[in-house]
Amino acid sequence: MIPVTIFAGRDVAVLGLGMSGLATLRALKAGGANVLAWDDTEVAREEAADAGFLVEDLSNYDWSRFAALVLAPGIPMTHPIPHWSIAKAREAGIEVIGDIELFFRARAQAGAPGKVVAITGTNGKSTTTALTAHLLSAGGKRVALGGNIGKAVLDLEPFAADLTYVLELSSFQIDLSPSLKPDAAALLNITPDHLDRHGTIKNYARIKSRIFSNLGPDATAVIGVDDEPSRAIADNLKGSFAVKRITVGHEIKTGVWVERGVLHEMEDGKEVANTDLAGIRSLRGAHNWQNAAAAYALARSQGLSAATVAERLKSFAGLAHRMEQVARRGKVLFVNDSKATNADAAGKALASFNDIYWIIGGRPKEGGLAGLESFFTKIARAYLIGEAAEAFAQQLGDAVDHVHCGTLDRAVEAAAADAERSAAKEPVVLLSPACASYDQFDNFVKRGDAFRELVMRLDGAKSITPEEGRVA
Ligand code: ADP
Repeated sequence: MIPVTIFAGRDVAVLGLGMSGLATLRALKAGGANVLAWDDTEVAREEAADAGFLVEDLSNYDWSRFAALVLAPGIPMTHPIPHWSIAKAREAGIEVIGDIELFFRARAQAGAPGKVVAITGTNGKSTTTALTAHLLSAGGKRVALGGNIGKAVLDLEPFAADLTYVLELSSFQIDLSPSLKPDAAALLNITPDHLDRHGTIKNYARIKSRIFSNLGPDATAVIGVDDEPSRAIADNLKGSFAVKRITVGHEIKTGVWVERGVLHEMEDGKEVANTDLAGIRSLRGAHNWQNAAAAYALARSQGLSAATVAERLKSFAGLAHRMEQVARRGKVLFVNDSKATNADAAGKALASFNDIYWIIGGRPKEGGLAGLESFFTKIARAYLIGEAAEAFAQQLGDAVDHVHCGTLDRAVEAAAADAERSAAKEPVVLLSPACASYDQFDNFVKRGDAFRELVMRLDGAKSITPEEGRVA
């Protein structure tokens, strides 16, 4: 835990008592602040009270007594409508900040020891953050991974000169952190998402771009330039810090580009190093090449040699539930992509494999399978589950052979049997449902875990352990 002393002796309101809210309470209390906690849901309030914190209905308070309102990133500041606490804070003239802000202020107060590497983007944040941490921990370097992935930032170990923090940041967290000042920062991509919370794509992009706002002269900005909003941000980056562009498909002068799986590091138009990503199972697909390019550039910015980074890339195990290769049975490969809760994400998996026995369905998103038509020829058969089954059957029509399975267990059984009979070299049973899981599972993790268990129950299924899953 990182004690935060900047509000020692003062009252601070903490609103939103999920994982990061509880960590904030602990950090502020350890730093000597008087914290008052609130959450609009009773279960969260009870948990905080059980942990010994003062839980009070803050709507009845005189807010001028607070030094700050620390808001959880899940609570709306502006859209669709500001949370009631925002009006209270504004009226009382107190600042509204998040836990990432507390981290950076506390770090500045401590003389900014160690390093901070921060990663944002619409998609690929978790993969890139985990990969960057994996690369940076080469040679026993000390790395603390957290933020929007794993541990809340204030639950990470305290500042130390030899410690590098690798932080995944959502747009909401960036929005609440005006003092955000990493040593290296990456923006992977920007596509329309969370617009209910950000109003417009312009506003969303503006918030994302703030990851670069305070970079110092020794810092590095890594920016994906494969979409229009990110390119515009890259073109407008001003400062004395280094800028590394990353792209999949276009050669660039300075930065990292990937073409057909080969990663090229460029400096002023000259290739400095290259490495082949093609055999690395955890980095399959063009979207993962973008993630790899960003992580590569970040790791290089922290002084790792090109050879070390190239070698280390090969041992990345990947993240669970994201195109995770879980087992083989004979020549059939089983892939758990339960995190693909919309068509866009499922498209990344469909683009990455051939001869696909595709398990889809759950609670559908708007548009259903729209946009995936170009992949339909790769699909040997689709296995429909959950609430989306009827609508998906209609969308697949005559273009894709499909069967109604109802539940995941029946789908796994049917897909495994069909795939086994396939004449293809590597038939793939792919759970990439393009739907939320909530109709049949608590969340996408439970759904992915269930898939893995069902696959492992099949006769002759051999688990791909992380070690085996690392490099083809
Ligand atoms: P995030 O943390 O931003 O949600 P993840 O690394 O967890 O991202 O990946 C979630 C899903 O997003 C993956 O299963 C994949 O379908 C898709 N994805 C991953 N990386 C990228 C990328 N660079 N560009 C587009 N989509 C991606």
